[in-house]
Amino acid sequence: MYQRIRKPIVISTAILFHLLLIFHLFFSPVLIVAASFNSIINASFFAFVLMFLLSLFFGRAYCSWFCPGCGVQEILSFFIKRKSKNSKALYIKYFIFTIWIGAIITGYILNGINKVDLSYGMSDITLERKIILTLGAIVLIVPLTAIFGKFASCKYICWLVPFLVIGTKIRDYFHLKGLRLKSEKLKCNSCNVCTTKCPMNIDVMENVKNGYMQDTECILCGNCIDHCKQKVIRFSFKK
Ligand code: SF4
Ligand code: SF4
Repeated sequence: MYQRIRKPIVISTAILFHLLLIFHLFFSPVLIVAASFNSIINASFFAFVLMFLLSLFFGRAYCSWFCPGCGVQEILSFFIKRKSKNSKALYIKYFIFTIWIGAIITGYILNGINKVDLSYGMSDITLERKIILTLGAIVLIVPLTAIFGKFASCKYICWLVPFLVIGTKIRDYFHLKGLRLKSEKLKCNSCNVCTTKCPMNIDVMENVKNGYMQDTECILCGNCIDHCKQKVIRFSFKK
């Protein structure tokens, strides 16, 4: 049920991102570092702050419902069926995030903030550079998916994931209401379909059995909900 809504949305964001050569302004990890060293608050600064705030209520739902990178992953999933492993490589993204956020904070501490410029990076940019910036996502995602399996780039290198994980952890720590998975383990017949359908290779059935559905790799795509014939798993917005 959810996939009929989610997949068209997320694939559309991927197509729009790559056709309209403007979205890199909001998602580029490079522009915000350059902006910080030029004392400028740019468009992606607001985009990343908004993502963080949304994660306080919606966890990692942004990843599976609106992220252009996930949209590319969904398109690749038509051709590549192998899942990527949940190995120590999952920690690489936290390493990348630490260096990236450290560079941004250093830029603003050293140079201060002088102005807000939402079009920063756009005025002096050539069409070629716009295309390179925009296609950079594909250049990263396609080989990683081909080598390591589906959703490898989300799991291993996405520098935005730690933002959303931190927001989700803060929400859970303060027992705030928010989008999460809930399950009724007594209804489960151990068919394991939820685990096989999870694109993030989470052992969903094990989580159901343990009665604990919070998993930092869960992108709230709803695949496990859609495929569970016993209706064991559902979305909830409760504490
Ligand atoms: S798909 Fe549903 S019934 Fe099957 S293992 Fe998962 S939660 Fe249990
Ligand atoms: S656990 Fe369910 S909602 Fe979370 S990523 Fe896996 S299939 Fe999607």
